[in-house]
Amino acid sequence: MIQVENLEKSFGDHQVIKGISTTISRGDVVAVIGPSGCGKSTFLRSMNCLEEPTAGRITFEGTDITDEDVDINLVREKIGMVFQQFNLFPNMTVKENIMLAPVKRKKMTKEEAAVKAEELLNRIGLADKADTYPAMLSGGQKQRIAIARALAMNPDVMLFDEPTSALDPEMVGEVLALIKELAAEGMTMVIVTHEMGFAKEVANRVLFLSDGLIQEENAPVELFEHPKNARLQDFLSKVL
Ligand code: ADP
Ligand code: MG
Repeated sequence: MIQVENLEKSFGDHQVIKGISTTISRGDVVAVIGPSGCGKSTFLRSMNCLEEPTAGRITFEGTDITDEDVDINLVREKIGMVFQQFNLFPNMTVKENIMLAPVKRKKMTKEEAAVKAEELLNRIGLADKADTYPAMLSGGQKQRIAIARALAMNPDVMLFDEPTSALDPEMVGEVLALIKELAAEGMTMVIVTHEMGFAKEVANRVLFLSDGLIQEENAPVELFEHPKNARLQDFLSKVL
């Protein structure tokens, strides 16, 4: 579904991504771990054209999205993104937040988008919050709404950038549970996370990024229990 080939990204003369290649296949749940500042967000954002690569190529469903002639908005319709800070629109109700993209991108009529929003809110157990503004919600509720908003476009893949890092500890579980449900349903996902237990449980593959490179890539049990790379061993000794 996504092919990353020799991806490099520099900000000025600071090279953040130094040549990453990997493939995300349909149904994959890939966890991305690594120390703060190693380029996890930059890598994830590149897959959604939020960062323009300095070199290399990213192909999404056969389309080279680094090509200047590609309609980035069409690509983004297929790629749902969830951020650490929720990024809900504060001046819109929960339901309006969820309806916005499908209507604006003319994927659905207002009526269809409203039905879809209600379905999604029911599914995440927040139907009673449809007409509430984001400021009235807890962090866990906001993040579940942000996930619902991304799902409203029926994306082929979901990218999560530390979806639980901004949450109070007691709200982490409800968000991870929702992501786990999506994984169980076969949603293709790439998740940057500091939740190692979650990564181990939900991912079929884990990428360890450090110093702008994938230092190790493996099935979770193998990667967490038999790390080969010295940096990964050091990282795990600090976080586990
Ligand atoms: P991570 O998500 O792993 O913590 P990031 O991808 O956010 O790391 O950042 C990697 C490095 O790139 C950091 O040193 C960060 O300061 C730098 N960086 C990220 N975005 C920008 C930007 N827009 N301009 C300049 N430097 C950036
Ligand atoms: Mg980050």
